[in-house]
Amino acid sequence: MIHTEREIRSHIVEIGRRVYENGYVAASDGNISARLDDGTIVTTPTMICKGRMNESDLVLVDLDGNKLRKEERHPSSEFAMHREIYRLRPEIHAVVHAHPPFGTGFAVANVPLDKPLLSEVVLTLGCVPLTSYGTPSTNELVDSLTPFIPYHDALLMANHGAVACGADLEAAYARMETLEHFAKIALIARLVGQPQELPAEAVSKLLDVREKAGYMSPDARGGQMCGYVQNETARPPATVNPSASANVNTNAMASVNTNATASVNTNATVSPCSCTATHAHTHGEDMVTLTKQELNALITEAARLIAREIG
Ligand SMILES: [Zn+2]
Repeated sequence: MIHTEREIRSHIVEIGRRVYENGYVAASDGNISARLDDGTIVTTPTMICKGRMNESDLVLVDLDGNKLRKEERHPSSEFAMHREIYRLRPEIHAVVHAHPPFGTGFAVANVPLDKPLLSEVVLTLGCVPLTSYGTPSTNELVDSLTPFIPYHDALLMANHGAVACGADLEAAYARMETLEHFAKIALIARLVGQPQELPAEAVSKLLDVREKAGYMSPDARGGQMCGYVQNETARPPATVNPSASANVNTNAMASVNTNATASVNTNATVSPCSCTATHAHTHGEDMVTLTKQELNALITEAARLIAREIG
C-alpha cells in the first residue's frame, strides 16, 4: 500500500505517543523513522519527547540522513542506525528504537532474549540477540549491529536499549512491544522457576510457519544467532578454554536457567541436565547422552555465565 508523506508523519506521531505512554522511553530518548516509496525517509528529530510530537516536528531526509528541507529540525543523532537497517534490508520500511525497561534490563545484564520460550514469540518476533556495546551516535554502535541486521527483526544493544524494524510502522512497533512483553515473561519465569524451552521439533515447525507467512526469509534461518537453530556456523564463536572441554555438572545447567550462578566441573561426567530444546538423547537413571555439539553449547553457555559472574 502506498502511503503519502502526510500519512506517514501522522503515523510516526501516533507511534511516538504509544512508545512514550508505554514507558519504552523517557525524556527525549528513542527515535522512529519510516521510508517512503520514493526512498526518502521521515524521521524524528533530535532532542524531542516522543509523546509530544507534531507532524511538523518530523524531518524528511535522504538515505544518508541529509535534510531535504532546510527549514526542518535536525534528524536524530542515531539516524545512522536506521540508515544501516534500510541499507541492508530493502523490504524494511520502518524502524523503532527505544529503551524499554525490561528488554533493556536484559541488555544491561548481558543476557539476550534468544531462547525459544513462547510459541508466539518464535513465530512473530524470532530470536533477539544481544549486540556488543557501541557508543551511541557513533559508527561503533552501527558496526556492532551490522552483522545481525540481515537475519533479525529486533536486537538488544548492550547497556543501551533495543531496536525493531518491520515492513511498516505497525509491524516495527509491534515487534518492540512483543520484545518488551517477552522480556517481562522471561524475567517472571526466571523468578518463579526454571524456564522450559520449546522442544526442537516444535521450534522447527514454528519456523516453517514463520517462513511460509513471510515473517522471515528462508535465508534468515541459518543466520539466526540463537538457540533456535542448530547450525554451528551461524552461532557466535565459542569462548571456552579448550582445556575445559570436559563435562558440565547438573548444578551448572540448573543455574543457567535460573540465578546464573553457574559452575563447571571439568572432572565430572555429564549428569541429568535441564534438557534444552535440542537434546535428542536417551535418559537413563542418572546419565544422559549428549552429542559433541550439544556439549559444546552447554559449556559455552556455562562459561558465558561464569564470565558474567566474575566480570
Ligand atoms: Zn538510544
